[in-house]
Amino acid sequence: MYEIEKEVLVCTHCHEEVQAVDEFCPHCGTLFEPEHVCAEHHSVLASGVCIICAQPWCDKCGSWVHDRFLCRPHNDYEIYEGMARVYGTLDDTMAQYVRGRLEEAGLHPFIFSRMQPLHGSRMLANTLVYPMGDYDGHLVYEIKVLVPCQEALEAEQHLREWEFRK
Ligand SMILES: [Zn+2]
Ligand SMILES: [Zn+2]
Ligand SMILES: [Zn+2]
Repeated sequence: MYEIEKEVLVCTHCHEEVQAVDEFCPHCGTLFEPEHVCAEHHSVLASGVCIICAQPWCDKCGSWVHDRFLCRPHNDYEIYEGMARVYGTLDDTMAQYVRGRLEEAGLHPFIFSRMQPLHGSRMLANTLVYPMGDYDGHLVYEIKVLVPCQEALEAEQHLREWEFRK
């Protein structure tokens, strides 16, 4: 026996791989079937699908942010290569712990960290977590826990239940 290989299609907007059954691109939110209406305004055609909540929205309810479609409540997510930040910390042990918990919950977390040069040149030794922050001109080194965009809401629900603060 052999399996028939899945058909490989590519989104014309972001050029990521999509499935023939997809009604929208899960990577950028481009709608492949134009007849969808806005989840809020049922007489208005949707312009795209929010890649966080997977709902179709019109131009009033959603917009393109860095070539990805996001609804208003979700348009401030930090997204890196198709993954959304759900947690940030300066503590590597904590980041690993959060990742472990999310994995146990059946999600697919990934840890991402980088230095963010701001206008100062000093290192931030410790202190508080300032996600993406302009923290008083210091370098802020945040370790981010990311999950695939479609898992962001579920991951945040878990984090709230476990009482982790973002
Ligand atoms: Zn796409
Ligand atoms: Zn959304
Ligand atoms: Zn709308």
